Amino acid sequence: MKKDDCIFCKIANGEIPSKTLYEDERFRVILDLGPATRGHALVLPKEHFANLYELPEEWCREAFALAGRMAGRMTERLSCDGFNLLQNNGEVAGQTVFHFHIHMIPRYYGDGQIIGGKQGKADQEELEAVRRIICEGEEQGRGTL
Ligand code: 5GP
Ligand code: ZN
Repeated sequence: MKKDDCIFCKIANGEIPSKTLYEDERFRVILDLGPATRGHALVLPKEHFANLYELPEEWCREAFALAGRMAGRMTERLSCDGFNLLQNNGEVAGQTVFHFHIHMIPRYYGDGQIIGGKQGKADQEELEAVRRIICEGEEQGRGTL
């Protein structure tokens, strides 16, 4: 289903023009208007899902498979040296458009981009405490999901 007041629904379905790199029945891949690096693209489903939690698994598989294929083509054509795939969920995580999308950010040596924040250093006790919270009631994380 499309959402009337959603800009990415309109872009994905062609009601608002975009620099489209690829399109099929379910997805459109466009260039980001505020690129982090040259070739920064977004994979958009044509149906409205606000975020990863709402995205059905089949769409999820297809979206990431498509991103993988696009990364291959873009690497060839742009001669980039690597790729970051980024997918934000929730305002706190940096999501500003509440229609699921995957950022495809080509990386070039010397591009100076910093993706992701600083990381700390946890000890085994902290890791175990977090593991227990996430896996409580599961046997060594092997339960059903
Ligand atoms: P988010 O912050 O939600 O993960 O990412 C939203 C992205 O959409 C941003 O990188 C922003 O530059 C891009 N963006 C927002 N509005 C438009 C638009 O109208 N057209 C295009 N091509 N990109 C957009
Ligand atoms: Zn939408």
